[in-house]
Amino acid sequence: MKSASQILQTVFGYESFRPPQDAIIDTVIAGRDALVLMPTGGGKSLCYQIPALARPGCGVVISPLIALMQDQVNALRQLGVRASFLNSTLGPAEAAAVETALQSGELDLLYIAPERLTQERTLALLARSQVALFAIDEAHCVSQWGHDFRADYLQLDLLHQRFADVPRIALTATADERTREEIALRLDLAAAERFIAGFDRPNIRYRITLKHNARQQLLRFLKEEHPHDAGIVYCLSRRKTEDVAFWLQEQGFNALPYHAGLDSDIRADYQARFLREEGIIMVATIAFGMGIDKPDVRFVAHLDMPKTVEAYYQETGRAGRDGAPANAWMLYGLQDVIKLRQMVDGSDGSEAHKRAEQHRLNAMLGLCEITACRRQSLLAYFGDQLPQPCGNCDNCLEPVTTWDGTEAARKALSAVYRTGQRFGVNHLIDVLRGSEAERIYQYDHHQLPTYGVGKDLDANQWRSVFRQLVARGYLRVDMDRFGALCLEEKCRDLLRGDETIDLRRDVARKTARQQTRTA
Ligand code: ADP
Ligand code: ZN
Repeated sequence: MKSASQILQTVFGYESFRPPQDAIIDTVIAGRDALVLMPTGGGKSLCYQIPALARPGCGVVISPLIALMQDQVNALRQLGVRASFLNSTLGPAEAAAVETALQSGELDLLYIAPERLTQERTLALLARSQVALFAIDEAHCVSQWGHDFRADYLQLDLLHQRFADVPRIALTATADERTREEIALRLDLAAAERFIAGFDRPNIRYRITLKHNARQQLLRFLKEEHPHDAGIVYCLSRRKTEDVAFWLQEQGFNALPYHAGLDSDIRADYQARFLREEGIIMVATIAFGMGIDKPDVRFVAHLDMPKTVEAYYQETGRAGRDGAPANAWMLYGLQDVIKLRQMVDGSDGSEAHKRAEQHRLNAMLGLCEITACRRQSLLAYFGDQLPQPCGNCDNCLEPVTTWDGTEAARKALSAVYRTGQRFGVNHLIDVLRGSEAERIYQYDHHQLPTYGVGKDLDANQWRSVFRQLVARGYLRVDMDRFGALCLEEKCRDLLRGDETIDLRRDVARKTARQQTRTA
């Protein structure tokens, strides 16, 4: 039998493993189960392909991505691997030929769609054949908590029951802690060895900056750091991608808009230009990026905050694939928090689904508000570890200070309470700062005990307080009442004086050039 590294070299033509590929492969070859979390492009395929070749019998790969099976099989066949697939795109005669090949031991790898695998017919066929291993790709599809839930995946625990001696390896690129536990539970993989690695992208510098004048901030970032570079600017709405792209053109940049509403010819043309020409800035919605492999994207800028850490990681991950320094730069402000909270609350779906979405959004907000190393926090979200602060994120480069915001938070919460939880941030700030605005008198708010108690902070500082209170779940945004802020249960201890709160001191960040100058 050939060793794993011999197969790597002779069949796949690679020099060495990327850790922890070797450890994973050893585990599966030895007949033990594995649960693998690696980002897209991390090299998951080899983790089951090599054990399939090293062990006697055929490796069975369960994947929901029917459209990709043909390509995967073709690529393997070019390397001389005996691979086939079984899914609904095959006619009866073709399927029969694959089944015969499997039974006669003429296959190294067989890709099967989950709904096919769980048919009694297929299970009987596998029982008559020699199976080297089961690889469950896109394992997060088993999670009802996730986005890509597939009911067929829930039945995959039968693999363990029916084929107790066959090792199983489950793989996924997206799994927060809760999803990981669900995979382990539902696929009966609690005893499996876990491998989580490869999420760190050390050449990407993460920065999340307070939004005050988005366009000017973007312009300054581009002029100072990326005057001629290719990059992506993500926006939430189609309209905004066009506005920003045309505005950037006026400022002398080679910018193009991209969103799903554009004609497919135009989209294809812009995408081709982005790949081929140098220094193009794509101003895009999340519709842009899937499957685009451009190594020298020097920056990814977010003008709006993504809804989840997964999305943030995936979108920023399109920068710096060549390993050279790249920037992940994001603007973030109170309006983002309010808008996203409203979107999640207003989304249809079950209560459980909404709670899951809220939870994900909270994690993203947490990443924006933390004062410690962003990379450590980002990697921890995926279960990957970084022992030391990275030294290559804004919080590491320019440490953030906190202040005791207990008193300010109490004033803010009491302003919300006294005004009947019916008003938005701007009015609340007017109350706190004792403004003479007409609306104040209209509602008799100059009579409130909280009127004018917050003159010690300016409007921006109050904004920062409210933002952090919303981000951290003390205040809720009521979408049925046009963004009115309401108290959450969590406020109680703070109002009663049983809890204190440290807030992030928002500062105008220096630019990267100033950072290097002072470094
Ligand atoms: P994933 O499934 O995790 O998204 P793939 O298995 O498709 O990733 O691998 C991504 C790319 O990395 C592929 O081009 C693959 O051939 C390459 N690759 C994987 N492992 C190695 C290795 N040890 N050495 C060199 N290239 C590798
Ligand atoms: Zn850091």
